[in-house]
Amino acid sequence: MNKTKIPDELQFAIDLMAGCAVISGNVQQKHIISQDKADHSPVTIGDYAVQAYVAQALLSRYPKDEMVGEEASQLLSQEESLLNEVSNQVKVVLSHANPERVCDWIDHGQGYPKGRYWVLDPIDGTKGFLRRMQYVTALALVEDGEVILGVLGCPNLNFGGHTGVVAYAYHGQGAWWQTYEATSDGQPLRVSEIDDLSQFRILRSFEDSHTDSSRIDAFAKLAGVTAEPIRMDSQAKYCLLAGGQAELSLRLLTPARADYREFIWDQAPGYRIVLEAGGIITDTDGKPLDFTTGRRLTNNHGIFATNGRIHAEALEVLQQS
Ligand code: AMP
Ligand code: MG
Repeated sequence: MNKTKIPDELQFAIDLMAGCAVISGNVQQKHIISQDKADHSPVTIGDYAVQAYVAQALLSRYPKDEMVGEEASQLLSQEESLLNEVSNQVKVVLSHANPERVCDWIDHGQGYPKGRYWVLDPIDGTKGFLRRMQYVTALALVEDGEVILGVLGCPNLNFGGHTGVVAYAYHGQGAWWQTYEATSDGQPLRVSEIDDLSQFRILRSFEDSHTDSSRIDAFAKLAGVTAEPIRMDSQAKYCLLAGGQAELSLRLLTPARADYREFIWDQAPGYRIVLEAGGIITDTDGKPLDFTTGRRLTNNHGIFATNGRIHAEALEVLQQS
C-alpha cells in the first residue's frame, strides 16, 4: 500500500507490531513463564505484557474506543512475582510501566464488543509460543459488526524470503505484507488461483484438540488431496492463505467440544486479510461470520476459509465427509 494513503488507524496498528514483537521475542527466546487459566488454557507473561502495551497505546491515541482483549489481570494480580516479570517486560518498550499501571492497562481490554471497538489477541497460538514455534499478535478494528482493518504481526513466520512479517488489510482497499523493519511500501497479498480441489494445500491447527483431525483426513481423502495438511498454530495460517501459499484453512469442531464457538480475536484480524486478498471465509455450514454476537461467534460453527475459487464446491465435499 502506498504509505501516503494508509488510513491513520491502520498505520497506528501496524506501528504497534514492532513493540509487540520485541516483548514477545524477549519472552519466547529468554524467559517464558506461564499460568493456567480457569479454562485450563495457558497464558504467559508475554500475553499479559503485549496486551498491556497495546492497551496503553490505544488509551493514549484512541481513548474513546472500546478495547476487547483476550486477557484480564485478575489471575496475574494474585501472583506478585509474575506481575513483576510482566511489568519488567513492558518496561523494555514503555519506561513508565509499573505493576499497578500494567494491571490497569490489561483491564482496559475488558471492554464490551459493541459499536466501534478494537479486538486483540496479544499472543494468538500461545501453545505454539510455548513450543517456540508459530504465534502472532492479532489486532482488528470493528465497527457495527464490520471488521474495518486487521493486522497480524508474525515474528516467526517465513514469508517472501523473510523471517518475521506483518500482514495487514483495510476494508475495501486490499491486503499487504511487509517486514518489521520496512521503510518502503507493503507488498500486495493475493490468494492463489488454484481451482482444482485435489491440488489444494490445507492448513490446520497444530493442536489436535483444536480441530477434528480425523474428519480433516476424511475430507482430504474424499477431495483427492494427497499433500499432507500443513499444521500450524495461530492466524499465521491466514497469512499463508492470503499470500497464495495454501488454498484452504479449516477448523472443524471436535466431537469432544461440539459446543465450542470461536473467539472474535481468533478470527477478526485474519478474516479481513483473507477477504481483501481475494479469499472467502465462512463457517462450516457456509454461513458468513457474524461479528455482532459478543466475544464469541455464537452464530457460527467452525471455520472454512479458502482462496475463493471453488469455495462452495469444497464446502460441499466437506459436508459429504
Ligand atoms: P490454532 O492455533 O489455530 O489452533 O488457534 C489457537 C486458538 O484456538 C486459541 O487462541 C484458542 O482460543 C482456540 N481454541 C482453544 N481450544 C479450542 C477448541 N477446543 N476448539 C477450537 N479452538 C480452540
Ligand atoms: Mg488466540
